[in-house]
Amino acid sequence: MALIVQKYGGSSVADAGKIKNVARRIAQTRDKGNQVVVVVSAMGDTTDDLIKMAHQVTGRPADRELDVLLSTGELVSSTLLAMALRDKGYEAISLSGAQAGIKTDTTYSSARIRDIDPARVVKELKAGRVVIVAGFQGITEEMDVTTLGRGGSDTTAVALAARLGAEICQLYTDVEGVYTADPRLVPEAQKLTEIGYEEMLELASYGVKVIHPRAVELGELFNIPILIASSYNDSPGTLIHGGALMEVRNKVRGVTYDLDVAKVTVIGVPDRPGIAATLFEPLAKGGISVDTIVQNASIENITDLTFTVAKSQLTKAMEVVGPIARSIGARECVSDAKLGKVSIVGTGMQNTPGYAARMFRTLSEQGINIQLITTSEIRITCIIDEARVKDAVRALHKMFELEGK
Ligand code: ADP
Ligand code: ASP
Ligand code: MG
Repeated sequence: MALIVQKYGGSSVADAGKIKNVARRIAQTRDKGNQVVVVVSAMGDTTDDLIKMAHQVTGRPADRELDVLLSTGELVSSTLLAMALRDKGYEAISLSGAQAGIKTDTTYSSARIRDIDPARVVKELKAGRVVIVAGFQGITEEMDVTTLGRGGSDTTAVALAARLGAEICQLYTDVEGVYTADPRLVPEAQKLTEIGYEEMLELASYGVKVIHPRAVELGELFNIPILIASSYNDSPGTLIHGGALMEVRNKVRGVTYDLDVAKVTVIGVPDRPGIAATLFEPLAKGGISVDTIVQNASIENITDLTFTVAKSQLTKAMEVVGPIARSIGARECVSDAKLGKVSIVGTGMQNTPGYAARMFRTLSEQGINIQLITTSEIRITCIIDEARVKDAVRALHKMFELEGK
């Protein structure tokens, strides 16, 4: 008898019929003699709808209240799923994140899991029940409800799998696995049979939203194999794991994109020690997460500093940086909110020259101007005009021969 953690995403539980379908799939896993813990997302677009509702009553919803509000989406789906399973004659119980012992820090809207007290879940499993946990949420020491960030139910699932010592964490969604590019954008994209944690983490961090990056991090840390597969059929899916991989010779594994990029440039900054700290410390204090940072070579001790943030954080970033830029004697502070990024990822690119040049050549052949470039050992990212991101993904997918034979 194995312990399996399964997670079903929002589109997989979007209506009553889909919830019944999920109940049927859980029942099959149970019938094979497994213990099952299930994590669910909110139904369909519920989380977006709740955010909209909050903004209809106030321009600035209080962080604490917003997290409680958003957590209710997962309560609805978890309770309905428990009812559907009971209706089929299976013992099942729903638990909120708090009831499931998921303890987090106090960072509302992107809380991190500190620990899980598994006692209640273990007790229910021992009593022969399927345990259905509301994803994406936890509770602070002060008993305030928090949420883990958009897409966070994946992280709930992998964290529970790690804490409970599950054999595998299965994430069921509306695509059949991880593809070489978003299959909705590139119909020729190929499903990967398997992928390592490292590559998956880069892909997830740079736009492949099929799994939350923090779920991949936890999977790697606790060595939990993660399967991504369809909730609609029995196609084998993609296994994320740490063992030896068969396909590493295929050097670029995936092309990914993110349309949520805005850029701030501080022009004419005096180049002296402490300037970067003066600019970036207040941004960090303001909870603004800065991504790419580029500082130009200075001419006569004057330089330009450019950084990127999420579009939703641009106004706040400009509010913070504007006055500081003036106080340090910078000439001007400008922004561009119409950017996106495109990345190629693959461990096979390590120590192999030529990938960057091929990427830049492909973009230039498309008439796409590169504004910023960042790299890791296994990734090259170009920041480009938002309107050209999708063309860039298609061209790169073709160039790096990811369409299969
Ligand atoms: P869930 O609600 O099940 O968590 P998400 O919407 O968060 O599902 O993630 C699944 C979506 O991720 C797919 O519908 C697909 O469009 C998108 N996606 C983007 N890039 C990829 C990729 N490379 N492989 C698979 N899916 C991808
Ligand atoms: N419901 C949350 C969201 O839409 C969490 C999740 O689906 O994983 O982001
Ligand atoms: Mg998701």
